[in-house]
Amino acid sequence: MKNFPTFHRKLLAWYADSARDLPWRRTHDPYRIWISEIMLQQTTVVAVIPYFERFLARFPSVDALAAADETNVLRLWEGLGYYSRAKNLLRAAKAVVEKHHGQFPSDIEVLQTLPGIGRYTAGAIASFAFDIPAPIVEANTLRLYCRLLGYQSDPRSSVGQKVLWTFAEAVLPKTGPGRLNQALMELGATVCIPKEPRCGICPVSAHCHAFRDGTQSVVPQQKSKKVMTAITEVSIAIRRGPKYLLRRCPLNERWAGLWDFLRFEIAGDSKSVDTAHLTDTVRERTGLIIECGSQIAELKHAVTRYRITLKCITAIRQDGRLKSGNDWKWVKPADFQKYPLSVTGRRFAELLQRDSM
Ligand code: SF4
Repeated sequence: MKNFPTFHRKLLAWYADSARDLPWRRTHDPYRIWISEIMLQQTTVVAVIPYFERFLARFPSVDALAAADETNVLRLWEGLGYYSRAKNLLRAAKAVVEKHHGQFPSDIEVLQTLPGIGRYTAGAIASFAFDIPAPIVEANTLRLYCRLLGYQSDPRSSVGQKVLWTFAEAVLPKTGPGRLNQALMELGATVCIPKEPRCGICPVSAHCHAFRDGTQSVVPQQKSKKVMTAITEVSIAIRRGPKYLLRRCPLNERWAGLWDFLRFEIAGDSKSVDTAHLTDTVRERTGLIIECGSQIAELKHAVTRYRITLKCITAIRQDGRLKSGNDWKWVKPADFQKYPLSVTGRRFAELLQRDSM
């Protein structure tokens, strides 16, 4: 692309008139910018705003976050998914306090030594907070840069990444790179959208190769679609007196660090449940002998490449002692809210809570 100054002028004028007023844009505080950028990975702006506000109200500074208990951090993260992000936030906050005296580094290489901070997030923190000309390429700017350049090959290949990062660096001005990066991301998020980009109102259409060639619908090259596998799982809420059994998911499991009712995959279609198999599996995994109760819900959800039908079943402990080697807790329904659960775990917990009232 030629004539960057004209490109900058048009883009920044559009940004001044049209940008959304988002809470993390009203600050140069690297802590707030970092939290927002981590939350925005894999999650929409609309979904993030209430989480961001709650998180900042509870942990207003990197020191407050560094001193937090992981359970409380995960509880605030509950529903955002990709929980390793929350665990890395906590680890990175501790590293900022311990190794950097509580001050966020501004150097992008140093930023990338912190857990969960990759090249894009480092560039966002460095440019938005410190106005350092650090390039950024994330989902929205990847699409925008491909179209501006008319780049038709795979943008996720190593060659494609090199092309895009080189462009992201070249497009930045020496003064005000943070604001320009924000304008590029905003344009990608609101105008140069995946389907039917709004080229008619785009401030930089005169600089866009895809617009000139009419190739917006085929650029960028699409990722190959994930093949989803259907599976059936059961979640069993085992009751002993007024309490139910929860287990903290260990590191090697989906939702590591969160709590859950006992959950496992069962064979067969989603219509039938073999209760003898359930009681045997529960005995093997927990050491408890149970009597299965009723199925109180069937929830559908997707995790990575699995489309899951989850049968939520109640049971009563008859006998047996809990096996060691797991983090178990007997919890009253009124106390479920103290524990971070997965989205489906929370829905099951809410049903049990409602039934116990
Ligand atoms: S002209 Fe269209 S395709 Fe090109 S950058 Fe603008 S919105 Fe995207």
